[in-house]
Amino acid sequence: MIKNIRLRVLPQVWADAQKLEQEIARQNAISPKSIKGIRTLHRSIDARQRQVMIQLDIDVYINEMPPQQLFEPKQYREVKGDRQAIVVGLGPGGLFAALKLIELGIKPIVIERGRNVTDRRRDVALITRTQQVDPESNFCFGEGGAGAFSDGKLFTRSKKRGNVQGVLERLCQFGADTGILNAAHPHIGTDRLPGVIAAIRDEILRCGGEIHYETVVNELIVRGSSVITSDATEVIGVRTNRGQEFLGPVILATGHSARDVYHMLDRQRIPIETKGIAIGVRLEHPQQLIDQIQYHSRDGRGKYLPAAEYSFVTQADGRGVYSFCMCPGGVVVPSATGPEQVVVNGMSASSRGSRWANSAMVVEIRPDDIPVLLHDLGIKGMDASPLAVMAIQEEIERQAWLNGGRTQVAPAQRMTDFVHSRLSDSLSPSSYTPGLVSSPLHFWMPRFISSRLRAGLETFGRNAHGFMTDQATLIAAETRTSSPVRIPRDREQFVHPAVTGLYPCGEGAGFAGGIVSAAMDGERCAEALAGCYRQ
Ligand SMILES: Cc1cc2nc3c(=O)[nH]c(=O)nc-3n(C[C@H](O)[C@H](O)[C@H](O)COP(=O)(O)OP(=O)(O)OC[C@H]3O[C@@H](n4cnc5c(N)ncnc54)[C@H](O)[C@@H]3O)c2cc1C
Repeated sequence: MIKNIRLRVLPQVWADAQKLEQEIARQNAISPKSIKGIRTLHRSIDARQRQVMIQLDIDVYINEMPPQQLFEPKQYREVKGDRQAIVVGLGPGGLFAALKLIELGIKPIVIERGRNVTDRRRDVALITRTQQVDPESNFCFGEGGAGAFSDGKLFTRSKKRGNVQGVLERLCQFGADTGILNAAHPHIGTDRLPGVIAAIRDEILRCGGEIHYETVVNELIVRGSSVITSDATEVIGVRTNRGQEFLGPVILATGHSARDVYHMLDRQRIPIETKGIAIGVRLEHPQQLIDQIQYHSRDGRGKYLPAAEYSFVTQADGRGVYSFCMCPGGVVVPSATGPEQVVVNGMSASSRGSRWANSAMVVEIRPDDIPVLLHDLGIKGMDASPLAVMAIQEEIERQAWLNGGRTQVAPAQRMTDFVHSRLSDSLSPSSYTPGLVSSPLHFWMPRFISSRLRAGLETFGRNAHGFMTDQATLIAAETRTSSPVRIPRDREQFVHPAVTGLYPCGEGAGFAGGIVSAAMDGERCAEALAGCYRQ
């Protein structure tokens, strides 16, 4: 018999399988001997009260053995070359699009500007050593995309828009820990994610897919013309910087940082739209402090609890101010993609064992806010351009570079100094390895952002005692929170409404915001493309 139960246990009970079984037996009046196994369906931490509890939703197997497999692995068969599709970009969107195409019998030809995930490790390590960013292989570009050296957080709010569980199961099939299947906030970690990405890529190749690394798509092949006109409305392939042409319908999964792709679309007169975004800083605290705040204990998290997380949101002067992409036990990383930019982001290993906690602290920017930001930043002639938000992003990243070390050394300020508008005499130790330099962020960041950020941080400090502290550091600039452009597409067919054969996909198209949602979007685009092939 399988009995589904919900229970709350102390962290030390959760951490000990024998104690947990005894507790289940006690709470449900079951003989401990009759329990042959338990399967956790969902687990979360309830830290609302002083005594932190673990909440579990469990299937208990009474006098019956649990099934061996937690999920059904998918079998991928070799694809022949008679039907093929182009996938541009091998981030989560492109990886899952390619896998799905194989499942549907279509050969994926993947074009990826960066290197494979193993070589890419060296390139991201070099950023700290040389203070230079390779524009084709960095924290955003290369096999695995922006998700490869990330925190590997796998929760998404877009539950309705696809099969979250299916994506998590595929990740497990290719090597992720099955613990992600039941955690409230699943997390893989930057040390494990590259292995999973490499295993998916090996499967794509084994099944006959092609992957062309270090190759940049720089033109879409439009039937009958080089630009979209009323007579030429079909994309039939791509051209690359190596002079190759690949023919087939195109899934464009190039992520939010491929600015050349947005310029290419604009140049080829493929309609694109400007989109709201959020911009701010990375905020870094000592993890111990966050543990003390969130677990209500001077001793921090103790032996059994994971590094604590937080999530804050408020409104300041009509715009959202919120924490985003929080990395407990993580590090702040340099995620620029070109010269004269400083961009920061966060990642963590599976152990979440670093001494720091960081998150993006950002201010919502709506399309209506574009004129004031363009004006504040001295950007001219962009008001009517679909690339206006991208221009704002670029200028703030350049300001961060100018106010930093004019290398990857980032401008930073103590949290308390920022809210009191004073320069920091010194900075706290930080996980950001290229280095920090004290800078008056309150002064040079656009007032639209800095004033709201200050109000937001003050609110968070009031709500969480100890959060507002001079031990915390603001590091600029956090600009790549989502795509600055939307590439429109049909809601049902996923194809560009003005151009057949072009499937805008993932975060870069404005239809995803994270690893899981980009992966799901990749699958949906592949399914839509296959549907068109069938017709
Ligand atoms: C440091 C960091 C940490 C993050 N942490 C998390 C996290 O913990 N959880 C989470 O859900 N999300 C996280 N994110 C965001 C997440 O990585 C992205 O949402 C996700 O990767 C988007 O997937 P995508 O496939 O749409 O695009 P991307 O992952 O950006 O992939 C796009 C790919 O296209 C390639 N490409 C671009 N232009 C071209 C071209 N012209 N020709 C050929 N190839 C091209 C790029 O090299 C890249 O590999 C993080 C991002 C960063 C940078």
